[in-house]
Amino acid sequence: MLELSTPIKYVKRVGERVAEALAKRGVETVEDLLYHLPFRYEDRLNPLPISGLKAGAMASVIGEVRGTALLKTRSMPLFEMTVGQGLSTVKCMWFHGEYLRDKFRVGQMVALYGRVEASRSTAGRFKMIQPQFEILPAQDGPEAEFVRLEMGRIVPVYEFLGGTTAWGAKLTSRWLRRVLWGIFEELEEKTGAVPETVPAALLKRLKLPGRMEALRSIHFPEAGTPMVELMSAATPGHRRLIFEELFYLELGLELKRRRMREREGTAFVTNVKVREAIKQVLPFHPTAAQKRVLGEIADDMRKPQPMRRLLQGDVGSGKTIVAMQAALVAIENGYQTALMAPTEILATQHYLSARKLLGNVLSPRTGKPYRVTLLTGSLDEATKREARGRIFRGETDLAIGTHALIEDKVDFENLGLVIVDEQHRFGVQQRFRLMKKDTALDPDVLVMTATPIPRTLALTLYGDLDASVIDELPPGRTPIVTRRTTEERAEDVWGFVRKQVAAGRQAYIVYPVIEGAKDDQPELDFAHDVEEQGSEKAAGKKAKTSKGKAAKTEKLFESKKPLRAASDMYEELRKGALAGLRLGLLHGRLSADDKEVAMRRFQRGDTDVLIATTVIEVGVDVPNASVMVIEHAERFGLAQMHQLRGRVGRGAAKSYCILMTGGKVSEQAEARLDAMVRTQNGFELAELDLQQRGPGEFFGTRQAGLPEFRVANLIRDRALLELAKKEASRFAEQPDPAISHEEKDAVWARLKQQWQRRYGLVEA
Ligand code: ADP
Ligand code: MG
Repeated sequence: MLELSTPIKYVKRVGERVAEALAKRGVETVEDLLYHLPFRYEDRLNPLPISGLKAGAMASVIGEVRGTALLKTRSMPLFEMTVGQGLSTVKCMWFHGEYLRDKFRVGQMVALYGRVEASRSTAGRFKMIQPQFEILPAQDGPEAEFVRLEMGRIVPVYEFLGGTTAWGAKLTSRWLRRVLWGIFEELEEKTGAVPETVPAALLKRLKLPGRMEALRSIHFPEAGTPMVELMSAATPGHRRLIFEELFYLELGLELKRRRMREREGTAFVTNVKVREAIKQVLPFHPTAAQKRVLGEIADDMRKPQPMRRLLQGDVGSGKTIVAMQAALVAIENGYQTALMAPTEILATQHYLSARKLLGNVLSPRTGKPYRVTLLTGSLDEATKREARGRIFRGETDLAIGTHALIEDKVDFENLGLVIVDEQHRFGVQQRFRLMKKDTALDPDVLVMTATPIPRTLALTLYGDLDASVIDELPPGRTPIVTRRTTEERAEDVWGFVRKQVAAGRQAYIVYPVIEGAKDDQPELDFAHDVEEQGSEKAAGKKAKTSKGKAAKTEKLFESKKPLRAASDMYEELRKGALAGLRLGLLHGRLSADDKEVAMRRFQRGDTDVLIATTVIEVGVDVPNASVMVIEHAERFGLAQMHQLRGRVGRGAAKSYCILMTGGKVSEQAEARLDAMVRTQNGFELAELDLQQRGPGEFFGTRQAGLPEFRVANLIRDRALLELAKKEASRFAEQPDPAISHEEKDAVWARLKQQWQRRYGLVEA
């Protein structure tokens, strides 16, 4: 008897070998497969007549195979097939279509799906290039029992799960339908085989269907279900599953918030002395926004509960100085502060500027200088050991470092405050490890990010944090002039760079890869974003969502010629167009020392032009730099370009961002470049970025430890997210009296199990 937890290999038509393939996609049980939902549907109940097709639209067509041919064109073999309905026909073409030669027989019925184009050769007729297809079973053929699954109904289409059957056939949508149909038949024999997960009273109030009903209606929609609702995941069945998923997420976050409020932290004091300490290090007047935000932070720090605050502020808004002030509050109270940065370069930069800031003053509390320690992964062992020792013995007030800082080896004497810079680069899990570092009391935590996150999403992602926003730039900034150009105009660009350097300014030139010809190895920090844009390697492994599809189409646009790369161009420019200027090279494969040297030289003005990869993306601050050239800008994500552009325009001089494209630019890349030229507003750019990439990619799900949703989509389902949040806090606070004890217990039990399995976030 099937149950949700039954291993998938016991399901009819699956077996050992297929189960292995499915396991690679995370499908291990009957339940997993049931939650592999169709990503689109075909209306084979009311199929479109060929005569009603429109050029340019996506359409599904059912027709009879009239003829096929394999043509040998000069560039590639082309497979053609004519499909007809009565007198109307549509022509289909597949490039490199040898593999289709023996696939079809004249007279067979096929279902096609793809973009319809007007055929140039024959007036009034249509063609479809590389449509998806399914051969439909014949009424009297060996597969007649499946006719009702494939025809005369709304048919679900699934993302390919990978793998083949025992006899080598692909695990197509058709195969999945048959397997799923079988599963439903078996499950429905026994009532309660699919236990309900949302209390009945709640479902009733929200007018949502039960779990089994929802799943069935999504996989095998009844005739009459509006196609629009199906395609946008808006049927009651979809809404029910989405709600469930978000409800449990929000319930978990609610629980975390509640636990946090019960924890004990340090109540710092902010008396005159502390304020004096802050005042004496401030290099400028804080903006109103910086003052307000520091006020919010100070309020938190005074409370006996540990602070959990998210500080959002666009690039260049001046988060660092706010962080330093918070650090001084902790230090002047006799506690240590840890400041974590996502890269060594950034950690080093923070270290240098902290030393500059704090170097010439004495602490009013101790009458001695502040003690700052740098701890990054690539320091030599002895230095690291010494740094750890100082941190442990309390001989350091401010420890600045990268992840190395949070390794288990590091212990603080009395850690009072943890500051995490550029949080979007860190995992949720890492944040947790750090928070639990101290033994007696929970340190306060301030998380800073330059990724502007729409409020509802921030609440979900950082549901356990309070949020502050710096929504104002320091005075005296002139807007950055952003221009697009192509590789062909490179000489002009270099000429412009020379002119700026002659005027005493500095420039960055950024490349997507370190070495082009050799291996196209993307810079580590950048690997993730390359994947989103569909690098060769990545596109193959992720075709999971429709976003994955977009990435694949984008891939088609990539040119075959090697990318211009940082170290190659460094040589080329040094000998050629920028000869005579002082050039620096900075990328992730340099040793930590070399990186630091390169960065320091640029900071001091000893290099004019820094040729780099995206290692400089976050946080680097050199106010004299006024030009940011990004080569192969078509390859960069919006968030990245925005961050890179944020490296200039930090001083009073007029600054420029030049986006150079080399090779073909996809439609999506075009939209990104346009947006960059049009606006400098981080929130606006984030919104577009979110749309283009979807929330998982936008937040870097895999990196950030954000749950991968099975059904929900944080952008599409914002309204349901709000609803789920409301209902979750109501459930945690005082559930509906109509909800039974058993139901309540079941919800908590499920929450525990879910968070453990899916999010791995359950802690004591
Ligand atoms: P981000 O928020 O991107 O981390 P930074 O903290 O690096 O920004 O600040 C960007 C630049 O603005 C730095 O050079 C910093 O010294 C300067 N800055 C910050 N606040 C002010 C202010 N209130 N007045 C003038 N300059 C400021
Ligand atoms: Mg910063």
